[in-house]
Amino acid sequence: MSDRACGDCTLCCKVMAIETLDKPAGDWCFHCEPGKRCRIYDDRPSECRAFNCLWLLDPRLGTHWRPSISGLVLTTSEDGIEIRCDPDRPDAWRRTPYRDEIEKLAMSGELHDVTVLVITGADMTLVTPGREFHLGVVGEDERIVRELEGTRVVGATVVKASEIGD
Ligand code: SF4
Ligand code: SF4
Repeated sequence: MSDRACGDCTLCCKVMAIETLDKPAGDWCFHCEPGKRCRIYDDRPSECRAFNCLWLLDPRLGTHWRPSISGLVLTTSEDGIEIRCDPDRPDAWRRTPYRDEIEKLAMSGELHDVTVLVITGADMTLVTPGREFHLGVVGEDERIVRELEGTRVVGATVVKASEIGD
């Protein structure tokens, strides 16, 4: 754990879905004063208490990755790294130096079967070395299936979870 703190950053209160509050990804939480604080901090849901973005946890992400600066909130999932983009700055991940650094994450990810997914609201793009697979809106009942040649991703499709027995 690094010694970083959220300070005036509140971006996860916008980009993350909070099931307990029925809050969709991409909308500000009703309880948030953006750039300031959570109005119910002492009583916030356990999902919020447990949440730490990767920038807080991993000092290898430079200060420019601070979500309030980058417009990007990084987390890990079972499959890899998820990069959630502020919907009001949907191209934030394409800017310099972020796109180049995301490419490096994708290159390293390909070697270790770690996916790099950029998410804006519910719209998803799988990023692999030299390629982007725009998947569109992926529902909660849907899964991303990658087509691999060795470790290289050569295709990606979205299918119903029920079709793959998930
Ligand atoms: S996105 Fe990260 S740094 Fe920003 S408020 Fe959430 S946990 Fe803190
Ligand atoms: S309850 Fe508080 S910490 Fe949780 S999303 Fe809303 S504003 Fe953020």
